[in-house]
Amino acid sequence: MSCLEIKDLTVRFRMPGGALTAVDQVSLSFCGSHPSAVEHDVPVGATRDPSGPYGRSLALVGETGCGKSVLALAVLRLLPQNAEVSGQVLFGGQDLLALSERELSRLRGDRIAIVPQNPSLSLNPVLSIGRQITEVYAIHRGERRGDSSGKAAYLLQKLGFDDAGRRLSMYPSQFSEGMNQRVLIAASVALEPQILLADEPTKGLDQDLKKEVIRELKLVTGSWDTALFLITHDLEAARTLCQSIAVMYSGEIIEQADTGSFFREPLHPYTQALRQSLPENGFQPIAGISPTLSEPPSGCRFHPRCSRVMEICKNRRPELLNHSGRAVRCYLYR
Ligand code: SF4
Repeated sequence: MSCLEIKDLTVRFRMPGGALTAVDQVSLSFCGSHPSAVEHDVPVGATRDPSGPYGRSLALVGETGCGKSVLALAVLRLLPQNAEVSGQVLFGGQDLLALSERELSRLRGDRIAIVPQNPSLSLNPVLSIGRQITEVYAIHRGERRGDSSGKAAYLLQKLGFDDAGRRLSMYPSQFSEGMNQRVLIAASVALEPQILLADEPTKGLDQDLKKEVIRELKLVTGSWDTALFLITHDLEAARTLCQSIAVMYSGEIIEQADTGSFFREPLHPYTQALRQSLPENGFQPIAGISPTLSEPPSGCRFHPRCSRVMEICKNRRPELLNHSGRAVRCYLYR
């Protein structure tokens, strides 16, 4: 069983005028073959049960700028130099934040892989598709490129490319955006990672391409026994691909639940508003604007937008506690 456990992760950026906290004491975990979950009646992060009911795919959802992509990059230590990261990211008994760069690079792209946000920027335009996939085998397994081209063609075929052998010699500019996204997914799963971290894989894609990418990720998690950590603003993608969902708002987790409960009966007023913004509920916009990470509101960070705000909400930050087997950060559930 391969678990990824994020404990009290905080990310601050040193800025010219001070510091900005993008991720604030986030604790999350899930496992490759078994789920993890929060326990009843304890603050999240205090005790965890890796055989809990949440499932082996976790979506971290939230509006743009809430800190979720920063969290994803922090897990793999891909943040810029002005980031200060504290907490732990445990995987296979090791804290990824404490490994040397050499030790980490052996894991990254091998046992933990990432599908980055933007295929056009992530693929090298002057290298063939085949070269970019076989590179993974060369770096992590020491295989000669010629020896792994058959595996690269098999991956492309598995991800829906016809005439996959011929495609290997083509370049990203000869592929559509959706095809390049599939190439990135192929390169990410080449070594059958235990955890696949997909950062906004549907962002900026039209509806048809979104469906295509979701279908490929579903195929990957089904075929390779790979656990998915999906970072997305796209609730439909989260619903289709993941067994549990955590909601991030202004740098902190405000609710976590299994996917069925999340859509059936969201608890936090922000999560309820998110659900109401879905097409099936008439695209009802969420009132107010997202706070900036540089100036989060006092108390409950959602209080300026909350229709059920109470006096206590304005000054005291609610803890993330369990309610009926789910985690929620809101005074309505005390
Ligand atoms: Fe609304 Fe208060 Fe709950 Fe925050 S803690 S979501 S302001 S009711």
